[in-house]
Amino acid sequence: MTSIPDLNGEARFAEFTLAEGCLLCGGEVSIRATPSGAHSYCPTCHWLSRPRMKVRGQGLELSFSTSANA
Ligand SMILES: [Zn+2]
Repeated sequence: MTSIPDLNGEARFAEFTLAEGCLLCGGEVSIRATPSGAHSYCPTCHWLSRPRMKVRGQGLELSFSTSANA
């Protein structure tokens, strides 16, 4: 679970990067967030994912689900 505290208003659904957001290589991940869902892409290891996105207050919460869940 990662919190992104400083998005606001219309910027809520946008593209942004998440430092150390990649579950595979720990690199920076590009997130594209839309009202219908979020997509993430790591340019370092080419990891693609669709994190679950929840709007919470003025921020977003992204949760990456992996097949490694216990
Ligand atoms: Zn990566």
